[in-house]
Amino acid sequence: MASKELCPICGGFFEKGTTTFTVDYKAGVVVVRNVTAFVCDQCGEAWLDDQTAEKLEHIVNKAKKEKNEFQVIQMAA
Ligand SMILES: [Zn+2]
Repeated sequence: MASKELCPICGGFFEKGTTTFTVDYKAGVVVVRNVTAFVCDQCGEAWLDDQTAEKLEHIVNKAKKEKNEFQVIQMAA
C-alpha cells in the first residue's frame, strides 16, 4: 500500500511506523511488538503490507504451538 492512501475509518494519512499486534487464542495471548506497519496519524489504525502480514502469521503460528499463556515477541526489523 502506498503511504499516501487515506485511512478508510477516519480519512487520516498513513505514515510508516510500528505497531503492536495482539492475538487472543484459546490457550493464551500472543503479543508481537515492533511490527512494521502503516499507522494512521489520526486514529492510530495500523495496516500491514502483505510481506509483513505473512511474516507475522508465521511468528504467531509458531508462538501458538508453544502454548504459553502469555507471550511477548519482538519482531525483528
Ligand atoms: Zn484513521
